[in-house]
Amino acid sequence: MDICQISSPQSQSQPQPGPSGPIRGRFAPSPTGRMHLGNVFCALLAWLYTRSAGGEMVLRVEDLDPQRSRLEYALQMEEDLRWLGLDWDEGGSQNGKPSLYFQSRRTAFYEQCLARLEALGIVYPCFCTRAQLHAAQAPHLSQGDPVYTGRCFRLTPEERVRLEKDRSPALRIHVPAEEIGFQDGLQGWVSQQLQRDCGDFILRRSDGVFAYQLAVVCDDGAMGIRQVVRGRDLLSSTPRQIFLARLLGFPEPEYIHIPLLLSPQGIRLSKRDKPLDLGALRQRFSPQELLGLLASLCGLLDKPQPLTARELLGEFSPQCLRREDLRLPSSLYES
Ligand code: GLU
Repeated sequence: MDICQISSPQSQSQPQPGPSGPIRGRFAPSPTGRMHLGNVFCALLAWLYTRSAGGEMVLRVEDLDPQRSRLEYALQMEEDLRWLGLDWDEGGSQNGKPSLYFQSRRTAFYEQCLARLEALGIVYPCFCTRAQLHAAQAPHLSQGDPVYTGRCFRLTPEERVRLEKDRSPALRIHVPAEEIGFQDGLQGWVSQQLQRDCGDFILRRSDGVFAYQLAVVCDDGAMGIRQVVRGRDLLSSTPRQIFLARLLGFPEPEYIHIPLLLSPQGIRLSKRDKPLDLGALRQRFSPQELLGLLASLCGLLDKPQPLTARELLGEFSPQCLRREDLRLPSSLYES
């Protein structure tokens, strides 16, 4: 498989078939810190879904943002995944260096995909600063993100030339007033009217860094990913990703958005929750204990019981999974 390849332009207008062939799932961690329990939960479920279907696992490292990502975190993540017994068939680093499965090495491929979208005439420069974006906040909110007003879409060519003298623009894609829906494997039917619920969105930032939305679609497409298992916090991104995948001629993967882990007080976990990063957890628990704890929390086991990832495969039945977010026991925070 050429993981830096998009379909030929002729195939773009053809409807793309849905997922077929062997299941290919992925881990797609961002190496911006040590993995925390929420990342482990996501990796575990992605692995269980794919392996229980006899599928292949790809490890893609989402180190798009050079300011926040570090190779040492990516290498540590690989080591943590191995410690947990969550293996992969393809991807990850090569001799301790970033391979072509690292997004930081895929810029030329994203350029090609962007050029394909630009040829459709729906990509435009956006000169709004962060502050202006907030100032221009529309009354519609999609999961807390302001919907872009389309201010720069309406600029005249002369205005664009004038603004370009002072500032390099971000690139945005113009979305139609189209409803895009999909059947999520856990959350049921989800749909958005793109113009109303999401608005024109960024494909490349003004500093030249490609946006997550573009990179993830191009990579899932080129890497033949058929099944995307990830946190429910990304649910609202999926319709725009399906929109991009269709424009680029990639088949739509199956999506499964899993519950988020919450602190005992109901707050979403983040990399700042130090007692729950793997550095701290590995001092206190074996991999089997951690996996057993997560499995009982999400409904796969009646009570926490130490099990290896392979043993958990025998217990895996997606129908048992809880859909609502999961509160961690406070005992996890006590050392
Ligand atoms: N890299 C993203 C993260 O670590 C996940 C992206 C995805 O699964 O689509 O949050």
